This record gives sequence, structure tokens and C-alpha cells, in this order.
Amino acid sequence: MNAKTPVTPRDAVELVALTKSYAAGAKPAVDGINLRIASGSYCCLLGPSGCGKSTTLRMIAGHESVTAGDILLENRNITDLPAAARGTAMMFQSFALFPHLSALDNVAFSLKMKGVDKATRHKQAADLLERVAMGHLSARKPGELSGGQQQRVALARALITQPRVLLLDEPLSALDPFLRIQMRAELRRWQKELGLTFIHVTHSQEEAMALADTMVVMNHGVIEQMGSPHEIYNRPVSEFVARFMGGHNVLATPTGKISVRTDHMQLAPDVPGLADGAGNQRAVITDIEYQGTYVLVGLQHPGEDRSASATAEISVMVPEAAFAARPFQLGESVQLHWSPEAAHVLAH
Ligand code: ADP
Ligand code: MG
Repeated sequence: MNAKTPVTPRDAVELVALTKSYAAGAKPAVDGINLRIASGSYCCLLGPSGCGKSTTLRMIAGHESVTAGDILLENRNITDLPAAARGTAMMFQSFALFPHLSALDNVAFSLKMKGVDKATRHKQAADLLERVAMGHLSARKPGELSGGQQQRVALARALITQPRVLLLDEPLSALDPFLRIQMRAELRRWQKELGLTFIHVTHSQEEAMALADTMVVMNHGVIEQMGSPHEIYNRPVSEFVARFMGGHNVLATPTGKISVRTDHMQLAPDVPGLADGAGNQRAVITDIEYQGTYVLVGLQHPGEDRSASATAEISVMVPEAAFAARPFQLGESVQLHWSPEAAHVLAH
């Protein structure tokens, strides 16, 4: 989504000073967040475990009461509506299908609960399964379907209530890595085809970057940064975002902390006597890992003992050919270089 587009698309969801406190006196799990999610967009709520992602999603779904603030769906205030009256639907981890029911009965389930007669609910469920290219497998039980087919059944089951917004809480996190990558491509494809608004919670920055039009990075119940994956990856505003996104070094300089992408730094032989400056620092190589297209070099500042730390203080991705042309050795003292445009000043 381009923030400079003159025509603002209608917001599907707006959160206004939304707050959730589970216990009086404790720090709120969600602390007064403001957020507008454009209609028809794919939004990912991203952050470490415990930062308040699921609480936010459950409040939007109506599965959790709101302590303070408002939730608007297409300009309707839904803060106090029951879950079924909101126009949202939820898709859960591992799809949570009923194993003993056919795909058709899984999809028709919520209509059955509402007392819709069998012929009508089966017709609607069959239409939806057709829509997600699962019509021919509607009699199968979940155990007789592949992971991808199960995901489509779960999608059809969520869509049967005709939601305006689909809410997904870590839908891919229990899958094996190969299936996870396949399934996220399917989710993105269905979101575009259906033109619905998706709000997808994940703790994986890779998953969020692959899926999102808009990424919302949360920490300790507040929003640290919001923007397109490209904006956030290229301009993290804080040390937290730079470190959480990965692929960045956070460096202390005389003018404050900066972040520089690991692939935007270069290594050069050390120059004895050269002082650290605005675009260079001395460091010692502690680790060298061959990664195929590049070599990942781990470094630390001279005199710092990081022996107890599992990860290197600084990482530099050196293209394979550059490393082959000038190999560096473990323990070697080098100069780290970066250009002024590669450095981003961090807020806090
Ligand atoms: P996330 O989904 O980002 O991992 P959650 O929204 O589940 O985070 O949790 C945010 C915070 O609220 C955590 O500190 C968690 O322990 C707390 N929390 C979540 N659910 C409950 C609950 N039902 N009762 C009390 N505390 C809760
Ligand atoms: Mg969660």
C-alpha cells in the first residue's frame, strides 16, 4: 500500500486506542494501539511471543472483551457486538478441522449450529468448496486430504459466514517448513482472488514479509512500526525492529545508534592506527560460514568478550566471488565499511 496514494481505500478495520488489561494494576497486554487496515489488503501482525498479537486478534474477533478503546469494521463500531454479528471469521492453527466430518460437513458446520436446514447448508458448502477448487473432494475426511487441501477446506469453512475480514492466528506455524512455504503462497493467492481483508498473526518475520501488504511490528503491547515489508526492512525505526527483522547490524556511533544491513557492509584489510569514523569501524573476525551465494562473516569489536554469546555481535554477508578474491581468516583484524546512505539512525 502506498501511503502517498491520493485516493485512500476504505478502511476495513480501525482500532482506536485499543487496550486490554487481563489483571488490574498490571501492564496492559495491548496498550492503547491505533491502527487502520485498508480494505482488501493483507495485513500481518508481527512480533515476539507475548507481545499482544493474539490478544489484539481475539478482540477484533469478539473472543476477548475490550478494556478500553474501539474497534470499527467498515466504519461500524463493533466493539460490543457478539462474535457472530461482527462480519469477521477466524482460521486457527493447523486449520482445526473436525477429523470425523467430511470436508462438506466441516464447511457446513457453522450453518448447522445456526439451525440452517440440511439441503441449504450443503448447497452453500458445496458452492464454497467448488470456489476453492475442492468440489471433487467434498466427501473426504481431513485425514484423507493433503495439507494444502485441508487448508482450502479450513478457508471454505471460515468463508461460509460471509465475513468481510478473515482473521488468522499463526495458521502455518504447526506445519513442516516445506508445507509452510507452499501454504503461504496459497493463502496469498486466495486473499487476492477473494479480495477480502486478511489479518494474519505470526512471529515469523520471513512469513510476514512474504505475505503482507502492510506489516505491523508489535512489542510489549504497542506498535513499534507499521509499513510495507520493503519500508520496514529498509528503514527500521528502532533497535528493536532492526534486531527483530534480522539481516541488520546495530552499531554504536558517536552520533547515536545506527542500523546497517548485513549485505550493505564491506570488509577491508585493517589499517593500523585508523580511528573509527562515520563509515568505518575496526572489528575482529570470530566466525566464517559458507552459505553458497555468500559467505557469512561474524565479527566483534576489539576488546569485547562475547564468548558466552551464541551469535556474533556483527554479521557481514560477503558475496562468494568477493570472498574468493580476498579470503579473510578467523582472528583477523579488519575494517568494516558502510556508505552514509546504508546507515539508518535509530530512534531509541
Ligand atoms: P502473542 O500472541 O503475541 O504471543 P498474547 O496476546 O497471547 O501474545 O499475550 C500477550 C500477553 O498477555 C502475554 O503476557 C500473555 O501472558 C498475556 N495473556 C494472554 N492471554 C491471557 C489470559 N487469558 N489471561 C491472562 N493473561 C493473558
Ligand atoms: Mg499468539
